[in-house]
Amino acid sequence: MSDTDQTPTHPAPPIHLEHWCCEPGCTEWGSLGHSPHKAIPPRWWCFRHFPDEYKRR
Ligand SMILES: [Zn+2]
Repeated sequence: MSDTDQTPTHPAPPIHLEHWCCEPGCTEWGSLGHSPHKAIPPRWWCFRHFPDEYKRR
């Protein structure tokens, strides 16, 4: 009777970057991101708050 007390191998959890809408008070998921420069981390907005000026491009 072998007691195989194997601990299951849990893979490292993937890095989960949460980016919610940056609009204060908004709890929507920021599905639309925009960054003026690739060195600058993008900001995220939900569909409603995404600035129109960025939609044109
Ligand atoms: Zn929003």
